[in-house]
Amino acid sequence: MSARKSAAVRKKKASAVARKSAKRVVKKTPKKAAKTSKTATKKAKRKASRKAAPGKNRFNALARSRARETATQRRVFFFGDGQADGHADMKELLGGKGANLAEMTSIGIPVPPGFTISTEVCAEFNQRGQKLPVEVKADVLTALANVERLMDLRFGDPDKPLLVSIRSGSRASMPGMMDTVLNLGLNDETVRGLALMADDRFAFDSYRRFIQMYGDVVLDIPHDRFEHRLDAEKEASRVRLDSELSGRALRRIVASYLEIVEEVTHEPFPQNPRDQLWGAIGAVFSSWKNQRAVAYRRINGIPDEWGTAVNVQTMVFGNMGDGCATGVAFTRDPATGERNFYGEYLNNAQGEDVVAGIRTPQPINESSRVADTRDLPTLEGEMPKVYKELVRIYKRLEKHYRDMQDIEFTIQKGRLWMLQTRSGKRTTAAAVRIAVEMARERLITREEAVLRIDANSLDQLLHPTIDRSQEREVIARGLPASPGAAVGEVAFSAEQAEQRAKGGAKVILVRTETSPEDIVGMHASEGILTAKGGMTSHAAVVARGMGKSCVAGCGALAIDYERGVMQIGEHLIREGDPLTIDGSTGEVMLGFATTVIPELGGAFTELMKWTDRLRTLEVRTNADTPQDAIVARRFGAEGIGLCRTEHMFFEPGRILAVREMILASDSHSRESALAKLLPMQRGDFEGIFRAMDGLPVTIRLLDPPLHEFLPQSDEDIRAVAEALGTSIGDVRHKLESLHEFNPMLGHRGCRLGITYPEIYAMQVRAITEAACRVATEGVKVKPEIMIPFVSHARELAKLRALAEEVIADVRRESPGSRIRPTIGTMIEVPRAALTADEIARHADFFSFGTNDLTQMGYALSRDDAGSFLPQYVDDGLIDVDPFVSIDEDGVGQLVRLAVERGRSTRPDLKLGICGEHGGDPVSVRFFAEIGLDYVSCSPYRIPLARLAAAQAAISMRKKASLEDAE
Ligand code: ADP
Ligand code: MG
Ligand code: MG
Repeated sequence: MSARKSAAVRKKKASAVARKSAKRVVKKTPKKAAKTSKTATKKAKRKASRKAAPGKNRFNALARSRARETATQRRVFFFGDGQADGHADMKELLGGKGANLAEMTSIGIPVPPGFTISTEVCAEFNQRGQKLPVEVKADVLTALANVERLMDLRFGDPDKPLLVSIRSGSRASMPGMMDTVLNLGLNDETVRGLALMADDRFAFDSYRRFIQMYGDVVLDIPHDRFEHRLDAEKEASRVRLDSELSGRALRRIVASYLEIVEEVTHEPFPQNPRDQLWGAIGAVFSSWKNQRAVAYRRINGIPDEWGTAVNVQTMVFGNMGDGCATGVAFTRDPATGERNFYGEYLNNAQGEDVVAGIRTPQPINESSRVADTRDLPTLEGEMPKVYKELVRIYKRLEKHYRDMQDIEFTIQKGRLWMLQTRSGKRTTAAAVRIAVEMARERLITREEAVLRIDANSLDQLLHPTIDRSQEREVIARGLPASPGAAVGEVAFSAEQAEQRAKGGAKVILVRTETSPEDIVGMHASEGILTAKGGMTSHAAVVARGMGKSCVAGCGALAIDYERGVMQIGEHLIREGDPLTIDGSTGEVMLGFATTVIPELGGAFTELMKWTDRLRTLEVRTNADTPQDAIVARRFGAEGIGLCRTEHMFFEPGRILAVREMILASDSHSRESALAKLLPMQRGDFEGIFRAMDGLPVTIRLLDPPLHEFLPQSDEDIRAVAEALGTSIGDVRHKLESLHEFNPMLGHRGCRLGITYPEIYAMQVRAITEAACRVATEGVKVKPEIMIPFVSHARELAKLRALAEEVIADVRRESPGSRIRPTIGTMIEVPRAALTADEIARHADFFSFGTNDLTQMGYALSRDDAGSFLPQYVDDGLIDVDPFVSIDEDGVGQLVRLAVERGRSTRPDLKLGICGEHGGDPVSVRFFAEIGLDYVSCSPYRIPLARLAAAQAAISMRKKASLEDAE
């Protein structure tokens, strides 16, 4: 229950209201609902469907359509004995848990019977001031009667009591965010009946768990009150684990728990099982609105309207003594994706114990063994028959759902019950491997494999790992819970982590264990380190989902939250100290370790190959140096879409010549400065052309406002004056004259080419000469010269003529050369987009500069938007920052229009985009749809863009074939 520990604050109001409403309803006797012969008819139907051999699918389809028909009125959905009102596709109504319990039931997997109260009731409940509609209550009692009949037990019966769990479950998985109550239906009477089924130890263990959970969830009694009492009893009994407590000790605990309840609420613990039922259902519906659930939804973009369903399900007992256990498992390794059944379990325990980390869980099989479970027996060893059954079921589930599943199971006296299945959260590496292997196993198609990977998440794969060739000081080891290395300052609380991250620091959140209240802080951190908990602990599960590195269960940590320090062996580490963790190995290191980007192999390469076959959009890179170009090619770049020449100007030894060029007062001294730059630029281009052998390279001529290059310090000004042979005063005067009020709309881009044609001439010459030279080495060069910031067709016409002249000169100088660079322009000024038909007359290609186009089209300064744009997003005025994803309705329309107009005069016009949006999967989809030929993005975004392009192509093809069909 650690995940819920400091949760006392979280739902004061909510459960107080629930409590009241629970009281109000007990007085009335709920309507007796008419008995139905549902079970009988269902059995008959099932029989019939078994007989008709190929009819199974038809029956399913029938059942499904029937379910859909009645879904609109039905609010309580039964499942049990091979039949269910719901099915897997009804997650909106039944929540993920409920939909899958129904599905598992109807495919014949052993699931304790129960029923689901729909998410629609959650909304009703909250609208009506936390009150359950009367009809819903009647339906609940009918369904409960069905369960009683199936189980041959009765709710509240002192001899043969039916106990149930009340479980939350929304459409999206929100692990640990909402509440669950187990063993409901117990009271001073029924506990005796329960004891008859096994023994006192078991009965009172169940009762004390129930009082504690009910107290926590429904009555809002601080968890600690109970925990302290439990610890005291363990001490008195001289035992370490709860499971070692005797029946007599547990009886004492129950007695004092009941006292605690009375003391805090001034009322006795509700002994009437129906009161308990309404109380718990109400509390679970209310828990949809608790703080941590709200925070989780914010982070994960889950709408508040969805609501949770409530599942009421017959209890099965993993805490009944020998031959009893409970566990969780993944059908494949959630960290690596390896095809290994992977899980943990606890003997003689109830479900929540596994996640809570109060005992070290045992591995279910050898391949699930991790370092600290070295000596523990496995389920396979302890209960071979049950294990085999579990294997059979997991395989069945994987085949049925066609995805890796995360399952919960409980073994009662050697009998296996499934309590949950869902698509398992996994790291990106695992997601890729699983998708690729499932396609190879023919469980899914290649297209499905490609569609299953979230393009943005690929970023995780390109995350750094520790450079093992460098010195590093490993001071402790924990479980490798979520891969990747993280480097950051230590924070001991979620709030601290958040604050430090806001200040721009990278943070490692260090906790004894994490709880759902910590998720905002976890989100803000680079990595998470915990002292307690296993591979399925809260920290581990959440970190994997977020793609953060996590080392869990690092026993060597001793954290003193009060003093803000932790001790690891001899090392004392303070809040803010540098720390490194490696979630792939479990290592904890002192200081900031050096990290490297990993090699990408196997499944990733395969998946990328598939994306390349599926997509039509070309993916290029933005690269200014041969090194970048080489990295980009490794990631699959098919050319350079943007090579910025100005970055080269800043290199030491060059900037002075650049300043001379800018500040020259006549074209003679300008040309002498340019003559110095020419060979340097030519050398740069040669390097890039060689690196991109065989692929196109688009080089943009000088673009930024000149002030970006100007000298600021006295020293720099003196150096320029000396080089130009003028006075410092002269240079200062010139600097003043170059001052601009609005440089981003000032003297920049092609406007520089118009006023200083020598600059562009030099650059075109450098490009063409470099191309000619490497061509003689046998390198295949495809240079493309790009003229930036054009707003009027005549600018381009003039500069194109200039460039063609220079190219002709160079060709004359190097006879036999076949080099003929193409010449195109950027479309980044709204006027250019609007007049694209005119501009296209002079362009071989367009490359959309969507950064500037957004800046000017949206009137949104990239450098200043930070102070107000976040509020626009928070307030819902815009969905996302338009510099992150292209504003399809506005700025995107300028792109669309320019594509149409440009192609209207030049059908063969090549079209690409080179803004930041080229690496954003959502934008890539848009660019594919409006018919661009390529996107260009930074090297590390290339895999994302390739995947996004393939996904776009698949969905466009699907759409087209649907339209054809119509
Ligand atoms: P969560 O969504 O937080 O996982 P669950 O509703 O799945 O919450 O329940 C918490 C734990 O209790 C799980 O381990 C689950 O398997 C167990 N559990 C829930 N209902 C039952 C039941 N009817 N019998 C036995 N164990 C149960
Ligand atoms: Mg669960
Ligand atoms: Mg620009």
